[in-house]
Amino acid sequence: MKTVILSSDAGFEHRLPPPHPEHPARLRAVMDAFADTPALASIERVEARRASREEIARVHAPEHIDLVFEGEPADHEAFNGFDFDTFMSRGSLEAALRGAGAAVQAVDLVMAGDAEAAFCATRPPGHHAERHRPMGFCLFNNIAIAALHVLDAHGLSRVAIIDIDVHHGNGSQDVAEHEPRLVFGSLHESPLYPGSGHENETGLNGNVINVTLPAGTGGPVWRDRLAHDIIAPIDALQPEFILVSAGFDGHRADPLANVQLDEGDFAYAAALLADFSRRSASSRLVCCLEGGYELGALGRSAAAFVETLAAR
Ligand SMILES: [Zn+2]
Repeated sequence: MKTVILSSDAGFEHRLPPPHPEHPARLRAVMDAFADTPALASIERVEARRASREEIARVHAPEHIDLVFEGEPADHEAFNGFDFDTFMSRGSLEAALRGAGAAVQAVDLVMAGDAEAAFCATRPPGHHAERHRPMGFCLFNNIAIAALHVLDAHGLSRVAIIDIDVHHGNGSQDVAEHEPRLVFGSLHESPLYPGSGHENETGLNGNVINVTLPAGTGGPVWRDRLAHDIIAPIDALQPEFILVSAGFDGHRADPLANVQLDEGDFAYAAALLADFSRRSASSRLVCCLEGGYELGALGRSAAAFVETLAAR
């Protein structure tokens, strides 16, 4: 697929109190791995723009947006915490705006036919941010903002978010609960943070699919459930655009979870998602970086994922 990578150096300026696992070196690991992968050398890089307040407001309540717009601490060395693991520093607002902006810009590039697949290498991640609150390292829900952009700015009638991060995408599910044009499917370890995403949570409109995996689940089971229990039922609902919450914290080396994947499994997922979007959604695929907290595993996994998209 013709693939582009969107990113912003603003992602390096968002800091959380050490030793928080969601730190700027994560983005550096991803960008360095892309630079070190020969097959990615010719892929176009795009500087992410800022999302507008109006684009963010398709998902988040005004009070939530105000909290982030006004949430940077006055002191360069200080942090402003929203909960025990979600913080802002100086520079966090710009990073959050560029993260959400990358997602909507990626949608525009794909809809214009300039690309078939896009990967947004940004931080902070987004899928835990609910409509009314930042949460779980996430300030704005980038992938949900992209989904509403597909629906409201481009006029498509059905969009899917497939969440392969090892944690449940509670924020994206919260948005899907109130948006029947959005289909949300999440494949995640359970029990694990944030504690939601049980398989009996199917959404007010039957548009939510949760698949839970026990600690220790390996690649073969993960691959099978992604293909048959996430992609197949979403395919039946005929989405016109595929969005992916691309978290790589299911890697066996990741310190925050206990699923036993490797970079080959993420490459396999990329192939499935690329084929799915080509077959069913007119080659419209946008992926946003979510988690992944072991730097080497994160870089290798993200590079394998994007390399597979581009080769497909
Ligand atoms: Zn995660």
